[in-house]
Amino acid sequence: MIDIQTINIFSIYWMVFALTLLPVLLSVKQPYGRHVRKGWGLTMPNKDAWIVMEIPSLIIIAALLIYYQNYTFISGILLALWLLHYLHRTLIFPFMIKTKGKQMPILIVFFGFFFNLVNASINGLSLTFPNDVYPDVNDNTRIIAGFLLFGTGMFINIYSDYQLIRLRRSSANGYKIPNNWLFNWISCPNYFGEIIEWTGFAVIAWNPAALSFAVWTMVNLIPRAIDHHKWYKNYFPEYPLNRKAVFPYIL
Ligand code: NDP
Repeated sequence: MIDIQTINIFSIYWMVFALTLLPVLLSVKQPYGRHVRKGWGLTMPNKDAWIVMEIPSLIIIAALLIYYQNYTFISGILLALWLLHYLHRTLIFPFMIKTKGKQMPILIVFFGFFFNLVNASINGLSLTFPNDVYPDVNDNTRIIAGFLLFGTGMFINIYSDYQLIRLRRSSANGYKIPNNWLFNWISCPNYFGEIIEWTGFAVIAWNPAALSFAVWTMVNLIPRAIDHHKWYKNYFPEYPLNRKAVFPYIL
């Protein structure tokens, strides 16, 4: 019988697994978007790939929300925020990107699907588990700080993604140097926002599952931001030298 302790222990192993993968992700460019290349097997259209990869995060949380109906005020809000993020990521973002004709390796889609399946399951169960006194709503400062981080991160993530999407006005799949807003400090504000967002979620949720998801997000996105940053500098000789990859003034 699965219980909250089992989910917590699994979440800690899952987080340790993410950290062991960090050296791999720092040395192998994730082969999608600008880093897509041959040698990764069969591929599928980019837009469909995003929907398939992200859909477990939407369906699992929606199903748990409907099935268990066993949440507190705060855990209910957390589930709603998760759904909001993944409604956008699964059903809006793929239809906004301008990547016609671009492909993604099915292997990456499989990894993405599995990643979302595990993260949504452990986070959903942690938030809906019966008899879980959850979370400590007396700690108002932590909860407010978490909401501020989540909201700020989500805004930065979505706004930056759409700034990038707008750069590709023509049908060609080319790239331009983004030259506004947070792009003046970092190459990947969308990743910076996503990291802040899930850190905020973990601050509110205060459980191993949410912490593991924040760690996975960093492990996925920091190496990819470093790869994007190097790519910009190679591809555009005029790329501004003062920019960092993902954390202003730091990295
Ligand atoms: P990218 O920044 O690589 O790309 C975002 C979109 O903008 C793509 O359609 C891309 O096209 C386009 N684009 C990017 N830069 C330029 C440019 N300079 N000129 C023109 N077009 C550009 O983001 P990802 O595709 O890696 O990720 C998309 C979203 O998913 C992000 O919000 C990210 O935070 C999130 N994500 C979250 C993860 C997690 O672990 N939580 C893991 C991975 C992603 P193209 O695809 O052709 O390069």
